[in-house]
Amino acid sequence: MAFFEVVDPAFGGFVMGNAPVKQLATGFDWTEGPVWFGDANCLLFSDIPNNRIMRWTPGAGISTYRAPSNYANGHTRDREGRLISCEHGMRRVTRTELDGSITVIADSFDGKRLNSPNDVVVKSDGSIWFTDPHYGIMTNYEGFQSEQELPCNMYRVGPDGQMTVVVDDANCPNGLAFSPDESRLYVVDTGRMFTDDPQHIRVFDVQVDHLTGGDVFHIINPGCADGIRVDTDGNLWSSAADGVHCIAPDGHLMGKILVPELVSNICFGGRAKHQLFITATTSVYSVILNREGVQQP
Ligand code: MG
Repeated sequence: MAFFEVVDPAFGGFVMGNAPVKQLATGFDWTEGPVWFGDANCLLFSDIPNNRIMRWTPGAGISTYRAPSNYANGHTRDREGRLISCEHGMRRVTRTELDGSITVIADSFDGKRLNSPNDVVVKSDGSIWFTDPHYGIMTNYEGFQSEQELPCNMYRVGPDGQMTVVVDDANCPNGLAFSPDESRLYVVDTGRMFTDDPQHIRVFDVQVDHLTGGDVFHIINPGCADGIRVDTDGNLWSSAADGVHCIAPDGHLMGKILVPELVSNICFGGRAKHQLFITATTSVYSVILNREGVQQP
């Protein structure tokens, strides 16, 4: 079975023909939000419908990190190594402090409840950027079906705690990732559920605390993007219906990692930040690449 599909010949140097796309664990319902903790040598990820965050440790396998998880979805780490989580169930973004206590970063805007924060990144200045589509409140599958109070915006919470809308013209903003030098921010728009609205990856120019631009950067085919990450050369790695696609900084498709289940999210980790972890429907996969991921912290 082929693990890779080379589109641009340069992609042949990004992957290794003898490195398998390996299933690390299975038996979940819908996995998302992988985040690597090198200091603890483990991967955390969400199993959203089962309301839990799982932990995978090399050699030791699977254990439960947190249950209930308030139907947590996307995760990242801030520059102090703390876990930042998007919770559908409590409609909020939280930080898990080093002593285990939970701090609420954001749960409302303009006096109205957030929808269901989906994915989050932290910039080097400590600001927290997250998307707030309505997926987690549309049904009872990945949260609690409830009334939408705010448009599907993207927000920034500054180091001073001030919260602003940074994208207000997306259908459903979803995954997001800064370029290595943080001059660009890539934002996925997955469109409205159950409609034909456009699905694409947009690219914005980062102006410290706000964004300009926002052109369409790439349209994933087949399927659509959800979670995205960048490597140190600025290539964008994105989920797609047939696996993970690698897109060059100029927007052209370099190649694909083929995965046997529908991929949601990805993250880099491992000993040399060269291991790509892939959450895909009922399982978690990984593959060693000849690339280094931009990994936080
Ligand atoms: Mg997502």
